[in-house]
Amino acid sequence: MVDEVLLDAGVVTRCRRRVHLDNDPTMVGTPLAPPDPSAEQRIADAEAHRADIAERLQIATAPVGNGEDPDAAFGLADDSAATWTVVPADLAPAERAGLTLTALEEGVGYIWGGLLPRDREAGRRGGIQLLVRSVDGYVPVLVVRHRITDAGEGARTTEVTDLDPANASTDPDRKVRSHPRDQLRLAHAYRLLQAAGFAEPDRAVGGVIGLDADVVLWHDLAAGTWPGGRTALAEYDSRFADRLAVARAAAAREEPLAEPSRVLECKGCPWWPTCEAELTRVRDVSLVVRGEDAMELRRAGIATVDKLAALDVYDEPPIQWTGTSFSDAVSLAKAWLADLTMVRRVSQVTVPRGDVEVDIDMESFGDSGAYLWGCLLSGADIGVEHGYHAFATWEPLPTDDEARSFAAFWSWLTDVRARTAAAGLQFRAYCYNALAENRWLYASAERFAGFRGVPSTADVRAFVDSDEWVDLFRSVSDQFLCSHGKGLKVVAPVAGFAWRDAEAGGEASMRWYRDAVGMDDTEPDVAQRARLLRYNEDDVLATQALRAWISERAMIEVPFMEDL
Ligand code: SF4
Repeated sequence: MVDEVLLDAGVVTRCRRRVHLDNDPTMVGTPLAPPDPSAEQRIADAEAHRADIAERLQIATAPVGNGEDPDAAFGLADDSAATWTVVPADLAPAERAGLTLTALEEGVGYIWGGLLPRDREAGRRGGIQLLVRSVDGYVPVLVVRHRITDAGEGARTTEVTDLDPANASTDPDRKVRSHPRDQLRLAHAYRLLQAAGFAEPDRAVGGVIGLDADVVLWHDLAAGTWPGGRTALAEYDSRFADRLAVARAAAAREEPLAEPSRVLECKGCPWWPTCEAELTRVRDVSLVVRGEDAMELRRAGIATVDKLAALDVYDEPPIQWTGTSFSDAVSLAKAWLADLTMVRRVSQVTVPRGDVEVDIDMESFGDSGAYLWGCLLSGADIGVEHGYHAFATWEPLPTDDEARSFAAFWSWLTDVRARTAAAGLQFRAYCYNALAENRWLYASAERFAGFRGVPSTADVRAFVDSDEWVDLFRSVSDQFLCSHGKGLKVVAPVAGFAWRDAEAGGEASMRWYRDAVGMDDTEPDVAQRARLLRYNEDDVLATQALRAWISERAMIEVPFMEDL
Protein backbone atom coordinates (compact mmCIF):
# COMPACT_ATOMS: atom_id res chain seq x y z
CA MET A 1 0.00 0.00 0.00
CA VAL A 2 1.33 3.43 -0.91
CA ASP A 3 1.47 5.97 1.94
CA GLU A 4 -0.79 8.97 1.56
CA VAL A 5 1.24 12.06 0.70
CA LEU A 6 0.27 15.32 2.38
CA LEU A 7 2.74 18.17 2.08
CA ASP A 8 3.07 21.32 4.16
CA ALA A 9 3.99 24.83 2.96
CA GLY A 10 7.71 24.32 3.56
CA VAL A 11 8.14 21.94 0.63
CA VAL A 12 7.93 24.63 -2.03
CA THR A 13 11.20 26.21 -0.90
CA ARG A 14 12.87 22.96 0.15
CA CYS A 15 15.48 20.92 -1.74
CA ARG A 16 13.68 18.46 -4.03
CA ARG A 17 15.85 15.57 -2.86
CA ARG A 18 14.84 16.34 0.71
CA VAL A 19 11.20 16.09 -0.31
CA HIS A 20 12.01 12.72 -1.83
CA LEU A 21 13.85 11.43 1.26
CA ASP A 22 11.18 12.74 3.63
CA ASN A 23 8.57 10.70 1.77
CA ASP A 24 10.58 7.59 0.94
CA PRO A 25 9.33 4.78 3.23
CA THR A 26 12.62 2.91 2.83
CA MET A 27 14.47 5.77 4.54
CA VAL A 28 12.57 5.47 7.82
CA GLY A 29 15.06 4.91 10.64
CA THR A 30 18.07 6.26 8.69
CA PRO A 31 20.45 8.15 11.02
CA LEU A 32 20.05 11.89 10.57
CA ALA A 33 22.41 14.78 11.29
CA PRO A 34 21.86 16.04 14.86
CA PRO A 35 19.53 19.03 15.15
CA ASP A 36 21.32 22.31 14.75
CA PRO A 37 21.06 24.09 18.16
CA SER A 38 21.03 27.51 16.55
CA ALA A 39 18.15 26.47 14.29
CA GLU A 40 16.29 25.20 17.34
CA GLN A 41 16.99 28.50 19.08
CA ARG A 42 15.65 30.39 16.07
CA ILE A 43 12.48 28.30 16.19
CA ALA A 44 12.07 28.98 19.91
CA ASP A 45 12.65 32.71 19.37
CA ALA A 46 10.09 32.74 16.55
CA GLU A 47 7.56 31.02 18.80
CA ALA A 48 8.14 33.55 21.57
CA HIS A 49 7.72 36.37 19.05
CA ARG A 50 4.44 34.88 17.82
CA ALA A 51 3.13 34.47 21.37
CA ASP A 52 3.95 38.11 22.03
CA ILE A 53 2.14 39.23 18.86
CA ALA A 54 -0.88 37.05 19.69
CA GLU A 55 -1.17 38.67 23.10
CA ARG A 56 -0.82 42.18 21.72
CA LEU A 57 -3.41 41.58 19.02
CA GLN A 58 -5.90 40.09 21.44
CA ILE A 59 -5.57 43.10 23.73
CA ALA A 60 -5.76 45.54 20.81
CA THR A 61 -8.85 43.90 19.34
CA ALA A 62 -10.71 43.31 22.60
CA PRO A 63 -14.18 44.93 22.80
CA VAL A 64 -13.93 48.37 24.39
CA GLY A 65 -16.81 47.74 26.80
CA ASN A 66 -17.86 51.39 27.09
CA GLY A 67 -20.93 51.39 24.98
CA GLU A 68 -19.08 51.93 21.74
CA ASP A 69 -19.70 49.57 18.89
CA PRO A 70 -16.94 46.98 19.29
CA ASP A 71 -17.06 45.99 15.65
CA ALA A 72 -16.30 49.49 14.48
CA ALA A 73 -12.69 49.10 15.58
CA PHE A 74 -12.14 46.15 13.30
CA GLY A 75 -13.91 47.17 10.15
CA LEU A 76 -15.61 43.81 10.31
CA ALA A 77 -19.12 42.81 9.62
CA ASP A 78 -21.11 41.71 12.67
CA ASP A 79 -21.19 40.73 16.33
CA SER A 80 -18.91 37.74 15.93
CA ALA A 81 -16.14 39.89 14.52
CA ALA A 82 -14.47 40.60 17.85
CA THR A 83 -14.32 36.97 18.94
CA TRP A 84 -11.12 34.98 19.14
CA THR A 85 -10.42 31.29 19.04
CA VAL A 86 -6.95 30.28 20.10
CA VAL A 87 -6.14 26.76 18.96
CA PRO A 88 -3.62 25.29 21.45
CA ALA A 89 -0.44 24.16 19.73
CA ASP A 90 0.00 21.20 22.05
CA LEU A 91 -3.21 19.45 20.99
CA ALA A 92 -3.15 16.51 18.59
CA PRO A 93 -3.40 17.60 14.93
CA ALA A 94 -6.88 16.12 14.54
CA GLU A 95 -8.14 18.11 17.55
CA ARG A 96 -6.51 21.29 16.27
CA ALA A 97 -8.09 20.81 12.86
CA GLY A 98 -11.47 20.12 14.48
CA LEU A 99 -11.35 23.27 16.60
CA THR A 100 -10.28 25.32 13.58
CA LEU A 101 -13.10 24.00 11.42
CA THR A 102 -15.66 24.73 14.12
CA ALA A 103 -14.37 28.27 14.48
CA LEU A 104 -14.46 28.78 10.71
CA GLU A 105 -18.02 27.49 10.52
CA GLU A 106 -19.09 29.71 13.41
CA GLY A 107 -17.57 32.75 11.73
CA VAL A 108 -15.21 33.57 14.59
CA GLY A 109 -13.46 36.91 13.99
CA TYR A 110 -9.90 35.77 14.62
CA ILE A 111 -8.52 32.24 14.69
CA TRP A 112 -5.03 31.95 16.13
CA GLY A 113 -2.84 28.89 15.54
CA GLY A 114 -5.40 27.20 13.28
CA LEU A 115 -4.79 23.97 11.42
CA LEU A 116 -6.83 23.94 8.23
CA PRO A 117 -8.74 20.92 6.93
CA ARG A 118 -6.48 18.66 4.91
CA ASP A 119 -6.91 18.71 1.16
CA ARG A 120 -6.33 15.04 0.43
CA GLU A 121 -6.91 15.28 -3.28
CA ALA A 122 -4.37 18.07 -3.68
CA GLY A 123 -1.93 16.44 -1.22
CA ARG A 124 -1.90 19.56 0.93
CA ARG A 125 -2.01 20.18 4.66
CA GLY A 126 -1.05 22.95 7.05
CA GLY A 127 -2.10 25.96 9.04
CA ILE A 128 -1.28 29.61 9.52
CA GLN A 129 -0.73 31.77 12.59
CA LEU A 130 -3.83 33.89 12.11
CA LEU A 131 -7.04 33.70 10.11
CA VAL A 132 -9.01 36.92 10.01
CA ARG A 133 -12.64 36.98 9.02
CA SER A 134 -13.58 39.49 6.37
CA VAL A 135 -16.96 40.22 4.86
CA ASP A 136 -17.08 37.12 2.69
CA GLY A 137 -14.34 34.79 3.78
CA TYR A 138 -11.10 34.44 5.71
CA VAL A 139 -7.74 36.08 5.09
CA PRO A 140 -4.45 34.38 6.16
CA VAL A 141 -1.92 36.37 8.20
CA LEU A 142 1.61 35.13 8.77
CA VAL A 143 3.71 36.19 11.77
CA VAL A 144 7.46 36.01 11.16
CA ARG A 145 10.58 37.02 13.02
CA HIS A 146 12.42 38.84 10.27
CA ARG A 147 12.18 42.32 8.81
CA ILE A 148 9.57 42.51 6.09
CA THR A 149 10.01 46.08 4.87
CA ASP A 150 12.84 48.50 4.14
CA ALA A 151 12.95 52.28 4.07
CA GLY A 152 11.31 53.47 0.88
CA GLU A 153 7.75 53.66 -0.31
CA GLY A 154 5.10 51.60 -2.01
CA ALA A 155 4.31 48.73 0.38
CA ARG A 156 0.61 48.17 1.06
CA THR A 157 0.20 48.32 4.84
CA THR A 158 -2.23 48.84 7.68
CA GLU A 159 -1.57 49.60 11.33
CA VAL A 160 -0.59 46.40 13.09
CA THR A 161 -3.88 46.35 14.99
CA ASP A 162 -5.92 46.85 11.84
CA LEU A 163 -6.25 43.39 10.35
CA ASP A 164 -8.55 44.36 7.53
CA PRO A 165 -6.79 44.41 4.14
CA ALA A 166 -9.55 46.66 2.78
CA ASN A 167 -7.99 49.44 4.87
CA ALA A 168 -4.50 48.96 3.37
CA SER A 169 -2.92 52.00 1.79
CA THR A 170 0.34 52.72 0.01
CA ASP A 171 2.96 53.28 2.68
CA PRO A 172 5.07 56.43 2.14
CA ASP A 173 7.86 55.15 4.44
CA ARG A 174 8.19 51.46 3.58
CA LYS A 175 8.87 49.29 0.58
CA VAL A 176 8.52 45.52 0.52
CA ARG A 177 11.64 43.57 1.48
CA SER A 178 11.84 40.51 -0.75
CA HIS A 179 10.80 37.36 1.10
CA PRO A 180 9.40 34.98 -1.53
CA ARG A 181 8.96 32.30 1.11
CA ASP A 182 6.43 34.43 3.03
CA GLN A 183 4.25 34.87 -0.04
CA LEU A 184 4.46 31.18 -0.88
CA ARG A 185 3.32 30.28 2.64
CA LEU A 186 0.37 32.63 2.27
CA ALA A 187 -0.45 31.05 -1.08
CA HIS A 188 -0.41 27.60 0.56
CA ALA A 189 -2.84 28.77 3.26
CA TYR A 190 -5.00 30.45 0.64
CA ARG A 191 -5.28 27.23 -1.39
CA LEU A 192 -6.22 25.29 1.77
CA LEU A 193 -8.86 27.90 2.65
CA GLN A 194 -10.17 27.71 -0.90
CA ALA A 195 -10.46 23.92 -0.79
CA ALA A 196 -12.34 24.14 2.53
CA GLY A 197 -14.69 26.79 1.13
CA PHE A 198 -13.56 29.64 3.38
CA ALA A 199 -11.38 31.74 1.06
CA GLU A 200 -12.56 35.13 -0.11
CA PRO A 201 -14.08 34.54 -3.54
CA ASP A 202 -12.96 37.70 -5.31
CA ARG A 203 -9.41 38.29 -4.20
CA ALA A 204 -6.36 36.41 -2.93
CA VAL A 205 -4.60 38.51 -0.31
CA GLY A 206 -2.54 37.68 2.74
CA GLY A 207 -0.85 39.69 5.46
CA VAL A 208 2.52 39.45 7.17
CA ILE A 209 3.50 40.82 10.58
CA GLY A 210 7.28 40.98 10.92
CA LEU A 211 9.94 41.42 13.56
CA ASP A 212 9.20 45.08 14.22
CA ALA A 213 5.45 44.37 14.36
CA ASP A 214 4.70 47.97 13.48
CA VAL A 215 2.46 47.28 10.48
CA VAL A 216 0.70 44.49 8.64
CA LEU A 217 2.20 44.13 5.16
CA TRP A 218 -0.42 43.02 2.65
CA HIS A 219 0.43 40.96 -0.41
CA ASP A 220 -1.82 40.55 -3.43
CA LEU A 221 -1.12 36.94 -4.28
CA ALA A 222 -2.80 37.28 -7.66
CA ALA A 223 -0.74 40.29 -8.81
CA GLY A 224 2.03 39.79 -11.33
CA THR A 225 4.81 40.89 -8.97
CA TRP A 226 7.13 37.92 -9.54
CA PRO A 227 9.80 37.61 -12.24
CA GLY A 228 8.27 37.41 -15.70
CA GLY A 229 5.02 38.92 -14.43
CA ARG A 230 4.04 35.71 -12.66
CA THR A 231 1.81 35.81 -9.63
CA ALA A 232 2.70 34.35 -6.24
CA LEU A 233 -0.15 31.87 -6.67
CA ALA A 234 1.10 30.71 -10.09
CA GLU A 235 4.64 30.32 -8.74
CA TYR A 236 3.34 28.43 -5.73
CA ASP A 237 1.12 26.13 -7.83
CA SER A 238 3.92 25.15 -10.16
CA ARG A 239 6.38 24.50 -7.32
CA PHE A 240 3.84 22.57 -5.31
CA ALA A 241 2.90 20.39 -8.26
CA ASP A 242 6.58 19.56 -8.80
CA ARG A 243 7.21 18.68 -5.12
CA LEU A 244 4.02 16.63 -4.99
CA ALA A 245 5.19 14.57 -7.97
CA VAL A 246 8.58 14.03 -6.27
CA ALA A 247 6.94 12.98 -3.00
CA ARG A 248 4.38 10.69 -4.62
CA ALA A 249 7.07 8.94 -6.67
CA ALA A 250 9.10 8.43 -3.48
CA ALA A 251 6.11 7.13 -1.54
CA ALA A 252 5.30 4.69 -4.35
CA ARG A 253 8.98 3.58 -4.52
CA GLU A 254 9.09 4.58 -8.15
CA GLU A 255 12.15 5.92 -9.96
CA PRO A 256 13.25 8.99 -7.92
CA LEU A 257 12.43 12.33 -9.50
CA ALA A 258 15.13 14.11 -7.49
CA GLU A 259 18.77 13.17 -6.92
CA PRO A 260 21.15 14.66 -4.34
CA SER A 261 23.20 17.67 -5.33
CA ARG A 262 25.11 19.85 -2.90
CA VAL A 263 23.31 23.18 -2.36
CA LEU A 264 23.43 25.83 0.35
CA GLU A 265 20.58 24.12 2.19
CA CYS A 266 22.72 21.00 2.76
CA LYS A 267 24.54 22.82 5.57
CA GLY A 268 21.58 22.59 7.92
CA CYS A 269 19.81 19.58 6.43
CA PRO A 270 19.19 16.46 8.53
CA TRP A 271 19.80 14.27 5.47
CA TRP A 272 23.37 15.50 4.89
CA PRO A 273 25.06 12.30 6.20
CA THR A 274 23.02 10.28 3.68
CA CYS A 275 23.57 12.67 0.79
CA GLU A 276 27.24 13.28 1.55
CA ALA A 277 27.95 9.54 1.51
CA GLU A 278 26.16 9.16 -1.79
CA LEU A 279 27.79 12.22 -3.40
CA THR A 280 31.23 11.07 -2.27
CA ARG A 281 30.59 7.52 -3.50
CA VAL A 282 29.78 8.74 -6.99
CA ARG A 283 32.39 11.56 -6.77
CA ASP A 284 29.63 13.98 -7.71
CA VAL A 285 30.62 17.24 -9.33
CA SER A 286 28.52 19.25 -6.85
CA LEU A 287 31.13 18.48 -4.19
CA VAL A 288 33.24 21.24 -5.75
CA VAL A 289 30.76 23.44 -7.66
CA ARG A 290 27.36 23.97 -6.15
CA GLY A 291 23.87 24.68 -7.35
CA GLU A 292 23.06 25.63 -10.91
CA ASP A 293 26.60 25.09 -12.23
CA ALA A 294 26.60 21.49 -10.98
CA MET A 295 23.24 20.82 -12.63
CA GLU A 296 24.41 22.28 -15.93
CA LEU A 297 27.64 20.26 -15.79
CA ARG A 298 25.66 17.06 -15.27
CA ARG A 299 23.50 17.93 -18.26
CA ALA A 300 26.72 18.44 -20.26
CA GLY A 301 27.87 14.95 -19.26
CA ILE A 302 30.40 16.16 -16.65
CA ALA A 303 28.88 14.51 -13.60
CA THR A 304 32.01 13.74 -11.58
CA VAL A 305 34.84 15.69 -10.01
CA ASP A 306 37.25 13.55 -12.04
CA LYS A 307 35.67 14.59 -15.34
CA LEU A 308 35.71 18.25 -14.32
CA ALA A 309 39.37 18.05 -13.27
CA ALA A 310 40.28 16.51 -16.63
CA LEU A 311 38.94 19.46 -18.67
CA ASP A 312 41.36 21.76 -20.45
CA VAL A 313 40.67 25.33 -19.38
CA TYR A 314 41.85 26.59 -22.77
CA ASP A 315 39.02 24.71 -24.48
CA GLU A 316 35.54 26.09 -24.99
CA PRO A 317 33.75 26.27 -21.57
CA PRO A 318 31.25 23.40 -21.31
CA ILE A 319 28.58 25.57 -19.67
CA GLN A 320 27.69 29.18 -18.93
CA TRP A 321 29.16 29.53 -15.41
CA THR A 322 27.15 31.36 -12.77
CA GLY A 323 28.85 30.77 -9.41
CA THR A 324 32.49 30.51 -10.43
CA SER A 325 34.81 30.61 -13.46
CA PHE A 326 35.86 27.73 -15.68
CA SER A 327 39.50 27.77 -14.56
CA ASP A 328 38.58 28.06 -10.86
CA ALA A 329 36.15 25.15 -11.16
CA VAL A 330 38.78 22.93 -12.76
CA SER A 331 41.38 23.94 -10.15
CA LEU A 332 38.93 23.25 -7.33
CA ALA A 333 38.30 19.81 -8.78
CA LYS A 334 42.03 19.15 -8.91
CA ALA A 335 42.43 20.40 -5.33
CA TRP A 336 39.63 18.09 -4.18
CA LEU A 337 41.26 15.11 -5.87
CA ALA A 338 44.58 15.99 -4.20
CA ASP A 339 42.80 16.47 -0.83
CA LEU A 340 44.00 20.08 -0.58
CA THR A 341 41.97 22.62 1.45
CA MET A 342 43.59 25.58 -0.33
CA VAL A 343 45.45 26.25 -3.55
CA ARG A 344 46.92 29.53 -4.75
CA ARG A 345 45.18 31.11 -7.72
CA VAL A 346 47.99 33.66 -8.12
CA SER A 347 51.72 33.07 -8.32
CA GLN A 348 52.47 35.68 -5.60
CA VAL A 349 50.28 36.14 -2.51
CA THR A 350 50.43 39.29 -0.43
CA VAL A 351 48.51 41.09 2.30
CA PRO A 352 48.91 44.79 3.15
CA ARG A 353 50.91 45.15 6.36
CA GLY A 354 51.43 48.11 8.71
CA ASP A 355 53.88 49.22 11.37
CA VAL A 356 51.03 49.25 13.87
CA GLU A 357 48.36 46.59 13.35
CA VAL A 358 44.98 45.94 14.96
CA ASP A 359 42.89 42.84 14.34
CA ILE A 360 39.20 43.58 14.97
CA ASP A 361 36.25 41.26 15.49
CA MET A 362 32.72 42.29 16.38
CA GLU A 363 30.06 40.10 17.99
CA SER A 364 26.40 40.86 17.38
CA PHE A 365 23.14 39.25 18.42
CA GLY A 366 20.78 38.93 15.45
CA ASP A 367 19.43 42.31 14.45
CA SER A 368 19.46 43.51 18.06
CA GLY A 369 22.90 45.10 18.17
CA ALA A 370 26.67 44.63 18.46
CA TYR A 371 27.60 43.83 22.05
CA LEU A 372 31.34 43.32 21.70
CA TRP A 373 34.19 44.89 19.73
CA GLY A 374 37.44 43.00 20.28
CA CYS A 375 40.80 44.45 19.21
CA LEU A 376 44.28 42.91 19.15
CA LEU A 377 47.07 45.50 19.03
CA SER A 378 50.52 44.53 17.74
CA GLY A 379 53.50 46.11 16.00
CA ALA A 380 55.51 49.21 16.88
CA ASP A 381 55.28 50.69 20.37
CA ILE A 382 53.08 53.81 20.35
CA GLY A 383 52.50 53.97 24.10
CA VAL A 384 49.34 51.80 24.09
CA GLU A 385 49.40 48.39 25.71
CA HIS A 386 49.81 45.59 23.19
CA GLY A 387 47.47 42.61 23.19
CA TYR A 388 43.72 42.09 23.40
CA HIS A 389 41.31 44.90 24.30
CA ALA A 390 37.56 44.22 24.61
CA PHE A 391 34.78 46.82 24.51
CA ALA A 392 31.55 45.19 25.58
CA THR A 393 28.11 45.80 26.99
CA TRP A 394 26.59 43.05 29.10
CA GLU A 395 23.19 44.66 29.39
CA PRO A 396 20.78 42.59 27.27
CA LEU A 397 20.40 44.01 23.78
CA PRO A 398 18.83 46.26 22.71
CA THR A 399 20.28 48.77 25.18
CA ASP A 400 21.68 52.29 25.06
CA ASP A 401 24.66 50.92 26.97
CA GLU A 402 25.76 49.65 23.56
CA ALA A 403 26.39 53.32 22.68
CA ARG A 404 28.84 53.56 25.57
CA SER A 405 30.78 50.43 24.58
CA PHE A 406 30.80 51.41 20.91
CA ALA A 407 32.05 54.91 21.76
CA ALA A 408 34.79 53.41 23.97
CA PHE A 409 35.88 51.14 21.11
CA TRP A 410 35.91 53.98 18.60
CA SER A 411 37.81 56.32 20.96
CA TRP A 412 40.46 53.65 21.54
CA LEU A 413 40.81 52.98 17.80
CA THR A 414 40.97 56.70 17.02
CA ASP A 415 43.68 57.18 19.65
CA VAL A 416 45.74 54.31 18.21
CA ARG A 417 45.39 55.69 14.69
CA ALA A 418 46.33 59.22 15.82
CA ARG A 419 49.39 58.04 17.74
CA THR A 420 50.52 55.95 14.76
CA ALA A 421 50.13 58.88 12.40
CA ALA A 422 51.94 61.21 14.84
CA ALA A 423 54.85 58.76 14.89
CA GLY A 424 54.97 58.82 11.08
CA LEU A 425 54.07 55.13 10.91
CA GLN A 426 51.65 53.08 8.78
CA PHE A 427 48.47 51.88 10.49
CA ARG A 428 46.38 48.90 9.37
CA ALA A 429 43.29 47.30 10.88
CA TYR A 430 42.13 43.82 9.83
CA CYS A 431 38.91 41.89 9.97
CA TYR A 432 37.55 38.75 8.34
CA ASN A 433 34.61 39.60 6.10
CA ALA A 434 34.08 43.33 6.57
CA LEU A 435 30.39 43.09 5.67
CA ALA A 436 29.45 42.31 9.27
CA GLU A 437 31.78 44.82 10.92
CA ASN A 438 30.87 47.57 8.42
CA ARG A 439 27.17 46.93 8.92
CA TRP A 440 27.45 47.53 12.66
CA LEU A 441 29.94 50.41 12.33
CA TYR A 442 27.42 52.29 10.24
CA ALA A 443 24.36 51.10 12.14
CA SER A 444 25.90 52.06 15.50
CA ALA A 445 26.90 55.50 14.24
CA GLU A 446 23.35 56.04 12.97
CA ARG A 447 21.45 54.58 15.93
CA PHE A 448 23.55 56.31 18.56
CA ALA A 449 24.15 59.61 16.78
CA GLY A 450 24.53 62.33 19.42
CA PHE A 451 25.78 60.01 22.17
CA ARG A 452 29.10 61.11 23.62
CA GLY A 453 32.05 59.65 21.71
CA VAL A 454 29.96 58.05 18.94
CA PRO A 455 31.43 58.91 15.52
CA SER A 456 29.47 60.44 12.69
CA THR A 457 28.62 58.32 9.67
CA ALA A 458 31.15 60.38 7.72
CA ASP A 459 33.89 59.43 10.22
CA VAL A 460 32.99 55.78 9.85
CA ARG A 461 32.95 56.04 6.07
CA ALA A 462 36.35 57.74 6.00
CA PHE A 463 37.81 54.80 7.94
CA VAL A 464 35.96 52.03 6.08
CA ASP A 465 36.92 53.46 2.67
CA SER A 466 40.56 53.99 3.63
CA ASP A 467 43.52 51.71 2.90
CA GLU A 468 43.85 51.27 6.66
CA TRP A 469 40.88 48.89 6.80
CA VAL A 470 41.82 45.51 5.32
CA ASP A 471 39.33 42.71 4.74
CA LEU A 472 41.28 39.44 4.97
CA PHE A 473 38.31 37.51 3.56
CA ARG A 474 38.79 39.47 0.35
CA SER A 475 42.53 38.73 0.39
CA VAL A 476 41.77 35.02 0.77
CA SER A 477 39.02 35.03 -1.89
CA ASP A 478 41.17 36.89 -4.41
CA GLN A 479 44.29 34.83 -3.95
CA PHE A 480 43.21 31.31 -2.97
CA LEU A 481 40.75 28.64 -4.00
CA CYS A 482 39.32 26.86 -0.99
CA SER A 483 37.83 23.43 -1.60
CA HIS A 484 36.08 23.28 1.82
CA GLY A 485 34.80 26.84 2.05
CA LYS A 486 36.38 30.17 2.91
CA GLY A 487 35.21 30.63 6.51
CA LEU A 488 37.80 31.68 9.08
CA LYS A 489 37.22 28.39 10.93
CA VAL A 490 38.30 26.51 7.77
CA VAL A 491 41.11 28.76 6.60
CA ALA A 492 42.90 29.71 9.86
CA PRO A 493 43.65 26.05 10.75
CA VAL A 494 45.52 25.75 7.43
CA ALA A 495 47.68 28.58 8.80
CA GLY A 496 48.23 26.45 11.92
CA PHE A 497 45.75 28.22 14.22
CA ALA A 498 43.45 26.38 16.65
CA TRP A 499 40.66 27.79 18.81
CA ARG A 500 40.90 27.03 22.53
CA ASP A 501 37.18 26.31 22.83
CA ALA A 502 36.20 23.18 20.90
CA GLU A 503 32.63 24.47 20.56
CA ALA A 504 33.71 27.86 19.20
CA GLY A 505 31.48 29.15 16.43
CA GLY A 506 29.01 31.88 15.62
CA GLU A 507 26.03 29.69 16.44
CA ALA A 508 27.35 28.50 19.81
CA SER A 509 28.16 32.09 20.71
CA MET A 510 24.47 32.98 20.38
CA ARG A 511 23.63 30.52 23.15
CA TRP A 512 26.51 31.70 25.29
CA TYR A 513 25.35 35.29 24.84
CA ARG A 514 21.82 34.51 26.01
CA ASP A 515 23.24 32.97 29.18
CA ALA A 516 25.86 35.70 29.61
CA VAL A 517 23.23 38.45 29.83
CA GLY A 518 20.44 36.38 31.40
CA MET A 519 18.18 36.78 28.41
CA ASP A 520 15.77 33.95 29.25
CA ASP A 521 14.78 35.24 32.71
CA THR A 522 17.81 33.62 34.26
CA GLU A 523 20.65 35.08 36.32
CA PRO A 524 23.44 36.44 34.06
CA ASP A 525 26.17 33.82 33.76
CA VAL A 526 29.54 35.49 34.28
CA ALA A 527 31.40 32.37 33.16
CA GLN A 528 29.75 32.63 29.74
CA ARG A 529 30.92 36.23 29.44
CA ALA A 530 34.49 35.02 29.96
CA ARG A 531 33.88 32.32 27.37
CA LEU A 532 32.66 34.86 24.82
CA LEU A 533 35.65 37.10 25.45
CA ARG A 534 38.03 34.18 25.00
CA TYR A 535 36.25 33.18 21.81
CA ASN A 536 36.42 36.73 20.48
CA GLU A 537 40.09 36.97 21.45
CA ASP A 538 40.78 33.75 19.57
CA ASP A 539 39.05 35.14 16.49
CA VAL A 540 41.38 38.14 16.39
CA LEU A 541 44.37 35.91 17.12
CA ALA A 542 43.19 33.80 14.17
CA THR A 543 43.19 36.74 11.75
CA GLN A 544 46.60 37.77 13.07
CA ALA A 545 47.93 34.24 12.46
CA LEU A 546 46.29 34.12 9.03
CA ARG A 547 47.82 37.37 7.74
CA ALA A 548 51.24 36.46 9.11
CA TRP A 549 50.96 33.10 7.34
CA ILE A 550 49.88 34.72 4.04
CA SER A 551 52.87 37.09 4.28
CA GLU A 552 55.44 34.54 5.30
CA ARG A 553 54.55 30.93 4.55
CA ALA A 554 51.64 30.53 2.16
CA MET A 555 53.88 30.85 -0.90
CA ILE A 556 55.83 27.81 0.22
CA GLU A 557 53.06 25.74 1.79
CA VAL A 558 50.22 26.17 -0.71
CA PRO A 559 50.56 24.84 -4.27
CA PHE A 560 49.86 27.14 -7.22
CA MET A 561 46.82 25.99 -9.19
CA GLU A 562 48.68 25.88 -12.48
CA ASP A 563 51.15 23.45 -10.95
CA LEU A 564 48.45 20.93 -10.01
S1 SF4 B 1 21.56 17.16 2.23
FE1 SF4 B 1 21.38 18.62 0.55
S2 SF4 B 1 20.88 17.40 -1.24
FE2 SF4 B 1 20.51 16.13 0.54
S3 SF4 B 1 18.36 16.42 0.97
FE3 SF4 B 1 19.45 17.85 2.21
S4 SF4 B 1 19.52 19.74 1.06
FE4 SF4 B 1 18.97 18.10 -0.36
